[in-house]
Amino acid sequence: MSKPALLQMFPQELSQYLKDIGQPAYRAAQLFHWLHKGVGFNNMSNLPLALREELNELAVDLPARIIERFESDKDGTVKLLFAMLDGHCVEGVLMHYRYGVTLCLSTQVGCRMGCSFCASTLEGLARNLSAAEMMHMVLLANGELGEEKVHNIVLMGSGEPLDNYDEVVRFLRLVSHEEGLNIGLRHISLSTCGLANQIDRLAEEGLPVTLSVSLHAPNDEIRQQTMPVARSVAFKDLLASCRNYISKTGRRVVFEYALVDGLNNLPEHARELAGRLRGMQCHVNLIPLNPVKERSLQSVTKKQAEGFLRELEKLNISVSLRREMGEDIAGACGQLRRRYLKQGAALSLEKNEIPQKE
Ligand code: SAH
Repeated sequence: MSKPALLQMFPQELSQYLKDIGQPAYRAAQLFHWLHKGVGFNNMSNLPLALREELNELAVDLPARIIERFESDKDGTVKLLFAMLDGHCVEGVLMHYRYGVTLCLSTQVGCRMGCSFCASTLEGLARNLSAAEMMHMVLLANGELGEEKVHNIVLMGSGEPLDNYDEVVRFLRLVSHEEGLNIGLRHISLSTCGLANQIDRLAEEGLPVTLSVSLHAPNDEIRQQTMPVARSVAFKDLLASCRNYISKTGRRVVFEYALVDGLNNLPEHARELAGRLRGMQCHVNLIPLNPVKERSLQSVTKKQAEGFLRELEKLNISVSLRREMGEDIAGACGQLRRRYLKQGAALSLEKNEIPQKE
């Protein structure tokens, strides 16, 4: 049996765990406090040595580490590559905005949704990430920032968050826990390719995160050309789940729309989209497609993107064009990990070599 990862337990669960191994339950608060500062068992200075040694034997403290980092010369965006204990790795990105630092976090190693524009899904899904792994990546990202801390989180790295529902919901509760990092749920966005049933489930959790839905099309026919999920979830059912989410949480939904030349960027597409979103409390985020070299889809020019934006504005849709960040280091989603896998980089986890920040 694999060792339990204590970073995924709530204080209550830690108390129970300590009781089960014959230790005093009141140590749970100390344990939770240290773990959520990114401190491992060995350095928990107010825990007795014997307990630290026992925990080292029986459990896992911090399950990830940073193995590569790339910093953009243009805007200070930092792309991080994290490795898990089993050697799997995923990306994360730190972006500096006026209102604070945003971390883009992965929820799965790879993805099984198969969207044709996305690099994360090219090799399918390797495995889900655990809540402990997601938590630790946030803590490691904080460690990169010095005084500043992660202020916003977007679950827009590799993976489909709602395809890893239980771990993602546990992560949301842990990262917003008031005795831990206490990151406001309103500062967290969860992006989904549109698993309508899971959106309905999320609406009942009492977690007021911003729901981002990757729409990328004004209708089923166009959506099905790039997103396999559109064959099982109809556009109108997806919008119904979004409306339900809005009414249950009181939060507006953000629709992501990657502009692909010749596919979804004509004025008639803007008009059709506006018609379907009319009256909904929502915002449309336009993204010029970031071309993935394994695929043949073409991006749009800045002028074309602005034309599409104006068309939607004319129809009174709240819309913005996403500013591109870290272009010189990022590439499309999932590309850093792929480059790393191709190099056949051997991960020597025993050596625990952590590249130093320049
Ligand atoms: N699985 C989730 C979250 C991960 S991707 C989802 O589908 O929403 C985060 C966002 O980046 C999604 O909107 C996704 O559609 C978009 N995306 C992926 N590859 C892209 C590319 N090459 N160019 C532009 N956007 C892309």
